[in-house]
Amino acid sequence: MPQQYLVLDTTAFYAGVPYTNTSENLVTTPDVISEVSNERTRSLIALSKINVLQATPEDFRRVKDAARRTGDNNLSKADQSVLALCLSIASEGNEAILLSDDFAVENVASRLGIKARPLMTGGVTTVAEWVFFCPACGKKYSKQRPDCLVCGTKLEKRLKKK
Ligand SMILES: [Zn+2]
Repeated sequence: MPQQYLVLDTTAFYAGVPYTNTSENLVTTPDVISEVSNERTRSLIALSKINVLQATPEDFRRVKDAARRTGDNNLSKADQSVLALCLSIASEGNEAILLSDDFAVENVASRLGIKARPLMTGGVTTVAEWVFFCPACGKKYSKQRPDCLVCGTKLEKRLKKK
C-alpha cells in the first residue's frame, strides 16, 4: 500500500499549516528547517510530528535541470530540496504532495510531474473568519481567550484562509 506524504516547503511553515493533531505524514527537509529561521516556527517544528528527510543528490540534480528548463533559476536550496524530496518519495513507490504557495516552486513541480497543493486555496485550512492560535505550541482555538490552555502563551489571531 503506497503511503501519502505531505511535503512542506518554507511557505507552508509561514502559512501556519496545522502541524499537530493530524494523522497525515508531514515531511520536510533539513534545508527548509534552516531557512525557517524564525524562533516561533522552530518551536512549532520541535513540537510537531514533522519528519525531516533528505533527498538524494541525484534527485537534486533532476530538480536543477527542470528549473533551468522552466526558467525558474531563483529557487533557493530549500525550494530545490523539497522538490527533490518529492521525487525521492515517488521513486520509493509512495505519493508525495507538495504544499507550497510559491509560484516558482509549483511551476517546477508541475514540470517534474509532482502534485502540488496551494495553501491559500487548498484543502489544508478550512473556511472561517478568525482562528486563534498559540504561537508557541500551535494549539488552535475557535473562540477567543487570553492565553493557551496548554502552555499559557498569549494567543494570537489571524484570518482563516479559504
Ligand atoms: Zn500553547
